[in-house]
Amino acid sequence: MTKKIAVVSLGCDKNRVDTEKMLWYLKGGEYSITSDYGEAEVIIINTCAFIESARVEAIDTILEMSAYKNEGNCKKLIVTGCLPQKYRDEIGDSLPEVDAFLGVNEYEKIRDAIENNGEILPASDGRILTTPPHFAYLRVSDGCDNFCTFCTIPSIRGKYRSRTIESIVFEANTLVKQGVRELILVAQDVTNYGKDLYGEPSLVRLLRELVKTDVEWIRLMYCYPELVTDELIDMIASEDKIAKYIDIPMQHVSDGVLKRMNRRNTYADACNICEKLKQKGIALRTTFMVGFPGETQDDFDLLMEFTKKYKPENVGIFAYSKEEGTPSAKLKGQLTKAVKKSRVNQLGKLNLENVIEYNEQMIGKVLDVVYEDVDYDRGLFCGRTQYDAPDIDKVVYFSGEYADVGNVYKVKITDYDEYDLIGEIVSQ
Ligand code: SF4
Repeated sequence: MTKKIAVVSLGCDKNRVDTEKMLWYLKGGEYSITSDYGEAEVIIINTCAFIESARVEAIDTILEMSAYKNEGNCKKLIVTGCLPQKYRDEIGDSLPEVDAFLGVNEYEKIRDAIENNGEILPASDGRILTTPPHFAYLRVSDGCDNFCTFCTIPSIRGKYRSRTIESIVFEANTLVKQGVRELILVAQDVTNYGKDLYGEPSLVRLLRELVKTDVEWIRLMYCYPELVTDELIDMIASEDKIAKYIDIPMQHVSDGVLKRMNRRNTYADACNICEKLKQKGIALRTTFMVGFPGETQDDFDLLMEFTKKYKPENVGIFAYSKEEGTPSAKLKGQLTKAVKKSRVNQLGKLNLENVIEYNEQMIGKVLDVVYEDVDYDRGLFCGRTQYDAPDIDKVVYFSGEYADVGNVYKVKITDYDEYDLIGEIVSQ
């Protein structure tokens, strides 16, 4: 009899790729995936433990899902990923409702954990996509050697390990054959791709191979500022298949803060990158962390000034979270919650002003929008442009007679709603 399995994938898109690879190990077995937790016999929660709020979300989800053992069909609750990888000893005893824990290097044991029959399956190299069929995340490496002082990832994920160009291109071709039109390159640090295998960062070399595939868009996430070279920017600008978009989590721009974060770039580097991206028409997504230990009012003012001047198209703003075991947790000058919250709010307000200014400039323009979903509350289709990544960036709501998921439509922008744009299809 087919066993019904429900999966909750928490955290970022890199974790989602792990979830998809884990599901691959169930292929060929008597399993079916369900989104109805009540009917699932097995519930798998793939966790993130990057910061405290992610750990709280993971524990809350485990407790929420454990209720299905009483109220639903659930016989087995399995927790995988970063949380058990790092905290198995601490959480094992306090979560008796969990039947099995698997760390980030143990996904191939998932079938064994479900069946509990001692059989460990040999490793394979596939995945079951959980994204809409027209886009997929493509992980180029795992681990990180950057050792930012606030980050627990290197201790959870280990040293940087690139996949070969051949294996990435093979997976890209496989995904394209399955109907994927947009590949989103992810890693802890995409720009460092290939340094361990080929002796130097080789992202441009990888991109040269990927653009030869039949994919329509390639999108770059998680680029480290120091390695965003002129060659890379030129390639994004000139290559039709690469979205005019780059995600560079800058974290901060003040040299003092960057140094204490153990980041290798400077304020001048950040300005330089922004100037070049603007010149070439490439949209920037970045993340800023405010309230890092020792962040002075001047440091914060510089970040505000930078944001006001360069107006990154999409910005994620976070308050520093003191993570046990990280070097920054021991730094002097930890700021109060109130100061951090106030700085998040100030930067958030400035960012919204920038976004509204940008959105006003879009009114009357016709943009290519890939259709992804329906917003039933608004009664509108919903999609995004090449300047936006799924789930994290702005969306375009639009009207039209019909739309097929994954297809690109010409949409005339007529209005906006804070972060998002509103428009209508001008040609079907
Ligand atoms: S680059 Fe820094 S923040 Fe990103 S995963 Fe590596 S250590 Fe963490």
